[in-house]
Amino acid sequence: MKPKVYQITAQSKSFAYESGLMGKFEKLLKEFDLKRFIPENELVPLKMHLGNTGAFKTIRPQFVKKVVDAVKQVPAKPFVTDSVRVPGYEYLEVAKEAGYTHLTLDAPVIMADGIFGNDSIPVYAGETLGEMSVASAIHDAKSMVVLSHVKGHIQAVLGGAIKNISMGGISAAPRGGDWNHGRGKMHFLMGEIMQWDETKCTLCLDCMHVCPVGAITFPDNAYVVDKGKCWRCGRCARVCPTEAIEVPVSHEIFMKAVAEGANAVLKTFEPGRVVYINFLLEMQPECDCMPLADPPVAQDQGILISHDPVAIDTATLDILSRVSPLPDSRASGLGLKEGWDIFSLLHKKDGRLQLVEAEKLGLGSSRYELEVVG
Ligand code: SF4
Ligand code: SF4
Repeated sequence: MKPKVYQITAQSKSFAYESGLMGKFEKLLKEFDLKRFIPENELVPLKMHLGNTGAFKTIRPQFVKKVVDAVKQVPAKPFVTDSVRVPGYEYLEVAKEAGYTHLTLDAPVIMADGIFGNDSIPVYAGETLGEMSVASAIHDAKSMVVLSHVKGHIQAVLGGAIKNISMGGISAAPRGGDWNHGRGKMHFLMGEIMQWDETKCTLCLDCMHVCPVGAITFPDNAYVVDKGKCWRCGRCARVCPTEAIEVPVSHEIFMKAVAEGANAVLKTFEPGRVVYINFLLEMQPECDCMPLADPPVAQDQGILISHDPVAIDTATLDILSRVSPLPDSRASGLGLKEGWDIFSLLHKKDGRLQLVEAEKLGLGSSRYELEVVG
């Protein structure tokens, strides 16, 4: 039987609360019946990406609160979490600024790999990555709800459910600074560190300012990375306006690594214990890791829910292959191409590859049944 993906659209038919997205989401959560997936009285991570300074187009707290309420109805004990993207103390400040607090969500907000970002447990991911460090608060849970703000990503192309559990479920800085078992390994499978081209560098220092761990210095106007500190997040290369910093990369290997990262995280759960919710709202071109928010590339498409990560991400890309690029966005002027979604067109790479690899690993099915329920 094909896995089901349920969708509620962003449009409202009237001014009644039940007709709006918030009311429809409440009903969707009730009808999806989280009791089927979440054991009673257990702690349940609500896996999110909490954003970054300047990246404000993450999932609005009101939606997260609805999920908290639904999990409490099971009854179970939800907590909102992500592994550290910037050092844990600062990341909690980012979460607070975005409105994700115990007070607003009625659930604790914690770092899945601890305030130091090193609380993790090694799990075999696959032949490309080997062993990876899964954040302990996710590793030790019996069930999980994955809330993904759908957006683009420079390398993964789609930031959806698979990428959320993969890059967000693995620690950035495993204990002892062993980056080779951390998230950064996914970025650096083709070479150990960034290449810097002095002739292209304008000394704007954007790379230094974006580095989450202060690993970059410019003694004598030369880009120097402290390899011991560096998380291999790749953000310095991404922000460089002149492409003076290069991360050697293979799209195929990277996508395989993303799928394997998700595999490591999902291996820590019994089958049928994870629920996925994709928010196709305010879909910006780049990851919420980047310190900015850009105009959405397409109109809001509502919210999807499923028990299958490959199905929900495939449905997401299918929907995004039928949308029109929004004017004044980075997708403006992109022509639609049969079988190509807006993020793959924008990033000039095939976003489905991560789903193909995830399906090969048995994480889910790309053949699904979509039901629009509101
Ligand atoms: S990859 Fe670049 S931005 Fe990221 S931690 Fe290393 S030096 Fe800093
Ligand atoms: S961002 Fe690029 S151009 Fe600017 S200082 Fe860094 S390497 Fe040089």
